[in-house]
Parts: sequence; structure tokens; C-alpha cells
Amino acid sequence: MRSLLALAACSLLAVLPACTQTKIIRKNSPPPVETPAEEEEDPIDVEPETDPLVIDLGEVEAGKDVSFEIPEGALGFNITVEGKVADFDQNRPFGIQRITDPKGNLVHDAFTPKGGTKETSIATFDVIASASVPQGEGVPKDLTGKWKVRFGVYGSSAKPKLKGQVRVQSSGDGAFHGGALDLYVHVPRGLQIGNRTVDASDAENDRDVSERIETFFALTSNLLGIEKGKVVYSEESGDYRELDGVEALLRGFSVSSGQKDGTQALHVLLTNLIGDQGRPFAAGISPGIPGAATIFGRNVSGIIVTTSPSVDNDVLTMLHEAGHFFGLNHTTEFDGQSSDPLSDTPVCDGISRDELYDCPDRTNIMFAAGAIDGPVTLSPMQKRVYRGSPIYRAFNAGGGSTMSFAPRAPARPSAHSLTRTFRVSGSDVLSPVERELSSGFCGLNALDTSGMVARHGRDQAIVQLTAAAADADLAPYIRGRADLALRALGAK
Ligand SMILES: [Zn+2]
Repeated sequence: MRSLLALAACSLLAVLPACTQTKIIRKNSPPPVETPAEEEEDPIDVEPETDPLVIDLGEVEAGKDVSFEIPEGALGFNITVEGKVADFDQNRPFGIQRITDPKGNLVHDAFTPKGGTKETSIATFDVIASASVPQGEGVPKDLTGKWKVRFGVYGSSAKPKLKGQVRVQSSGDGAFHGGALDLYVHVPRGLQIGNRTVDASDAENDRDVSERIETFFALTSNLLGIEKGKVVYSEESGDYRELDGVEALLRGFSVSSGQKDGTQALHVLLTNLIGDQGRPFAAGISPGIPGAATIFGRNVSGIIVTTSPSVDNDVLTMLHEAGHFFGLNHTTEFDGQSSDPLSDTPVCDGISRDELYDCPDRTNIMFAAGAIDGPVTLSPMQKRVYRGSPIYRAFNAGGGSTMSFAPRAPARPSAHSLTRTFRVSGSDVLSPVERELSSGFCGLNALDTSGMVARHGRDQAIVQLTAAAADADLAPYIRGRADLALRALGAK
């Protein structure tokens, strides 16, 4: 049986031997790139069809540096590398091995952003891997100049040819002047919020859906200066209402199929279940850190968020998963051993010792258990990572007057004060094991059953897991994970 239980974020494909053969969907090939030489010879001033902020690196052999020029005024860029399915070995996935800045300094090495402890730029859910700059430490303030990227194969010296692309985010002068995020909201037929069924064909006018979207944008506006852009609602098949198992998840990540690559937008699929063996496993999930910016219809093209009765929970989950998709790691990982690459985010030494509520990063959107206390925060470097992604439309100095965007979302004074809750009703007091399971709101947190036994003892773990699995007030993913852990322990 395929199981998500044992999955680290980078090993999902490891349980999917056939998956890459059948699940890769690519409906939109980018238009062929015209060579500049041909354009120069043309006496007529032909408008080039290529976007100056999209740099096609062509096919590059793994292990060789390829250079590219970042123009003045950039806020950041996202590099994607794509290999052939035939070249993909799930135990030795390809990815982005290193990125070198114009002065020769590495900002990304060994598939890891500088300062980081975990590889984030290896192909996991598709034959595409991506990395962003900025994503870690040591990124120069001015990005202008000749950068180098080297693709590679993780744990191997194989040298397949891989196709690379760089998509640049630019404000014209390199300073952040605000921006607008276009959001595609995919709503499956039959989606439930609380006890209500949403009319997927008219989700735009659904009060519960729009309250979540408006609150999400109130937060992006308040925290990031990124405003609500165009919001497009898309009715989807009822098959997306429950995503049980890896293949269903991959379908969910690629729900943007049919969209034009290169369009600056974020795609989010709303669903009622992110599950494993029929049990809720997470409240939200991103297919990568970062995702593949503006490449659609693939297994790395958007985030998935479950709806619950709580607006606050849903919005915090959405902003957290978007954070992964834009390039952010958890501030501190639950193993207590690793943390994000950024030096200005606090690290919680006690996270694995059941000191969740004392963690200095507990208000951070990217806290591994979600922001569990308010007001919610992002550090300056986290904001820079978010703002450097090409997923949204950055404004130029002067306020982006050449772009069409919706008026600034009304500031919701309480937007910072959203609170994550783990119970539908009653007190939010959790047992130690339940506190650990609360990290399951994010699908990138693996269920660590053996760690739980080591920390609490097998008997105590089973007692608390049994209580959690039967507690109808608890968030579904906590109950679901408790049940999955009991099965893994052979206690059910
Ligand atoms: Zn997460």
C-alpha cells in the first residue's frame, strides 16, 4: 500500500515508481524562443515575442555552469530545471546544484540555499526542480549582473541534459514598491465549508469563500505590501473534493492545466481532504520550496488548502503554503535539528521537547505548527524572499500605474490577529502528543511515529493517540494523523 507516512518532503516520488511515467501533464509548451541574431538582422522593428524577464537557458548538461544576465531593477528570480522522464531516477533526482552570484559567491550549493540545512532544489513531485534567489543568506542587495547556475543529479555524477529557465521579478529599480497578486481559486463541485456546500459554479459570490480570500489578501497587504489582484474562480470536478493518496495530490497540484505558462499568478485548489488511506493527513500542502513559478498544469504548479469551519485557520494555512511555494522553509523544523536558511528568523530549540507555545518563532507564518499565536509575523528576510518571487506583479516606482489591478484591499485592522485553533469548540488545550500532531496542518511535515514513541514512550504515546483519534472536536488532520500513527504502531 502506498503511504504518505514515511515521506519526507523530498521522497514522495520514492513511493511512486510509476508515477512520473503517467502523471506528468504538460499542456502548455512555452512559445519557441527567437534568437536575437535573427532579430538584429531584421530591418523592420519587430516586437520580440519573448519576455525580457524570461531567460531561456536551453538544454544544459548537468555539472556544467551556465551563465545568464540579470537585468537592472530585479527583486529576485526563480530558476526551474526540467529533465526527461526517461532520465529520472527517484533515488537520484536531478535539480539545481548551485547558483553563483556575479562576484563569484555561492548563494546556493549542494541543492540547498546558503544557510540552509535541507535540500530544497531537487525534483520531488515532477521532473521539474526549482530554486529562488533570494531564498537564503548572502544574496547581494543589487542582483544586476552575470549569474551562473549548475544543474546536477543528487547523489550521482550522471550528466543528463536538462532544460533550464529563469524568470525574473522586477520593479524597474530594484526597490520594492508594492505589487498585486493574481489568484486563481479552484473550487471542486460539492466543496463543503463547515456544514454548507459551496456552489462551485458561483464561488465568487459565496460568502465563506470570499471571506477567506479577502482575509488572505488583507494579510498579504498588511504583512507584505502585496495587494489583491485579479481573482479568478474556476469550477472543478467533484473528484478534487477529496484528495486521498499521492496520485490524487499530484492531480491537485496540477489543477492549473490549460493556463498559459508565464502568467504571473498563484493557483490554489480548495478541497475537503488531503488524505492518506482515507484519513486526513494535512490541512494544506505545497509541492515544493519553492514551487515552479508560472509553470502550470504540472505536479509543482500550485498549492492545496483544505477548508474548515475556521476562517483564521484556512487563511493562515493558505499564507503558510504560499510561503513555501514562494520559497520559504519552516523557521524551525519539528525534528529540532534543522531550521530555515535565514538568519533573522528565530529558531526554537525546544520544538521537539514539547515547548511549542514557548517557541520564539511561534507567531511566524512559517512556524512548523503554523502561527499559533498572534499577531502573526514575517521577518524582513522572509518578506524579501516573498517579494523576490515572480509569481505576483511587482509595481514600478510611481505605484504601478501602467498595470491594471484591483483597488487596495481594505486594511482589516485585526488581520494580524488571526489565531490558529486546533479544536472546533471548547478549550484549545492539547495533550503533548496532540501538540506534536498539530504540525500536521502542513503536509510537508512528515508523521514521525517513531520519534513520538521515543519522546513519550510507547504506552503513553498509544494512550494519547487513542484519545486524539476519538476526539471529535479536534482538527481533522490531528485525528487523522493519530489514527495513522496507531496503525503504524500496530495498535489499531
Ligand atoms: Zn509548512
